[in-house]
Amino acid sequence: MKGTYTSLFAALALAGTALASPVAAEEGPTSADIVNDANTPGDVLSYGLGPWQQRYSPLKEVNSDNVTKLVPAYAASLGGEKQRGQESQPLVYDGMIYVTGSYSRLFAFDAKTGEKVWEYDARLPDGIMPCCDVVNRGAAIHGNKVIFATLDAHLVALDRKTGKVIWNKKIADYQAGYSATAAPIIVKDMVITGNSGGEFGVIGAVQARNVDTGELIWERPVIEGHMGTLNGQPNGITGKTNATWPGDMWKTGGGATWLGGTYDPGTNMVYFGTGNPAPWNSHLRPGDNLYTSSTLAIDADTGVIKWHYQTTPHDGWDFDGVNEFIPFDATINGKAMKLGAKADRNGYFYVLDRTNGKFISANKFVMETTWANGINPKTGRPNYNDANRPGAPDGAEKGSVVFASPSFLGGKNWMPMAYSQDTGLFYVPSNDWGMDIWNEPIAYKKGAAYLGAGFTIKPIAEDHIGALRAMDPKTGKIVWEYKNPAPLWGGVLTTGGNLVFTGTPEGYLKAFDAKTGKELWKFNTGSGVVGSPITWTQDGEQYIAVMSGWGGAVPLWGGEVAKTFKEISQGGSLWVFKLAK
Ligand code: CA
Ligand code: CA
Repeated sequence: MKGTYTSLFAALALAGTALASPVAAEEGPTSADIVNDANTPGDVLSYGLGPWQQRYSPLKEVNSDNVTKLVPAYAASLGGEKQRGQESQPLVYDGMIYVTGSYSRLFAFDAKTGEKVWEYDARLPDGIMPCCDVVNRGAAIHGNKVIFATLDAHLVALDRKTGKVIWNKKIADYQAGYSATAAPIIVKDMVITGNSGGEFGVIGAVQARNVDTGELIWERPVIEGHMGTLNGQPNGITGKTNATWPGDMWKTGGGATWLGGTYDPGTNMVYFGTGNPAPWNSHLRPGDNLYTSSTLAIDADTGVIKWHYQTTPHDGWDFDGVNEFIPFDATINGKAMKLGAKADRNGYFYVLDRTNGKFISANKFVMETTWANGINPKTGRPNYNDANRPGAPDGAEKGSVVFASPSFLGGKNWMPMAYSQDTGLFYVPSNDWGMDIWNEPIAYKKGAAYLGAGFTIKPIAEDHIGALRAMDPKTGKIVWEYKNPAPLWGGVLTTGGNLVFTGTPEGYLKAFDAKTGKELWKFNTGSGVVGSPITWTQDGEQYIAVMSGWGGAVPLWGGEVAKTFKEISQGGSLWVFKLAK
């Protein structure tokens, strides 16, 4: 009898599941829809156009033969007195475009006309501490909600039709220097994101929350010694306390996960990059300082670290290894492999086995890397040039100054690369620049900058700083490059139309031939483009959209390279394009 009951209950539960799907579909995208985003060109449901975030669309109505006919369909201003950097990637669903703006704003525009439907402005406290401009990189969408992170380190879920708050949860304490700028990702009805604040001695962590309620499901701090949680219970210490950190330095060790992560449904892992160890002065923290400046593969269900790969052990240059790790499949030496690639801030392009973190290759994607002479293929560790590590302070005096390249803003910073399934190439928005860097005495103080370093960024080439580079992940060779006078700071999109799109600080959205790198089209949006472009189909036509609005870390910290962009005006607009009829 009991057995019958159990079977009956199981059958009812299954029926319930089957019935639930159509209802959920009416409410909006499900987690399954979001995992399938790359295969549905009628919408853009996720940051990166799919869980792998390859930023590839199969659409080819707009292609290398006709892209010269691309014209604006409309533009929409974010308005407001405050502008600054617009690093967002739009989402498109059910006739609406959702885009985040500077100062923790979220906008819903009519996707046909660009008319504003609603706007949400987070009420930010006075004491927020964003290190590198008041940016936001995009929202997530699920069911009836759009969800985004705010500069006071909250996650906010809004009703996607009205903009009304459904839930609002604190990620971390902004008064301790935490903030949040990443686009969250949706995995199995969870919203997963990282935190920002590596320049303030925070502890980087990844959090997974129930997408309907915002309640925490698991948290994984990324600095060794800190305890993770699962369903409110302790779930194991990260690493081994004091294995790679001296004394109490791990308690304020940095490693901010400020760019968010990618997800591979095949391995059920989320891949998060981790930022610089704190403070920048590496002489205060002998050891590898795990898991800073690394890629972490984390079990999506439990928050347990499955593997790690540290790109810059004992980082002394702010080679904050937070860059996105992009899954892709390829055949190398006759063997079909599940891989992932990362163009690291330290100037090397890494290919790893995404199932276990095993090193496959690392190749330079910038003009020079003075701090290391290649990556040892046996150990996967950099061959350090010890003379290029800034010296230890002597008492109250600053340490020896070195000229290091790339600069701390990186061979590549936050701006996401794209991978074409047609050409097999990664399109990497990179920069060639160096810096004078030195160390200074420093002690941790809650909510204060925790660097112990000073710097001046300098150009290293006459003709450019920015360089969009097509990298072959099988050979590590640069197939083509486009050089740009000002630093590149926007994301990349590639399409089945043999096109690569990216923006420039000079104000242009540009299109290149994906195979040759030939510049085919450009349009000036009136302010610098540091957002990430998208494409989708609507009413039988292909559309392309990008945010315009100059800002981000470069105008704040750019030093001598500032002369390349001093004439650029601020802004804040969504631009949408399609082919002229
Ligand atoms: Ca889609
Ligand atoms: Ca940093």
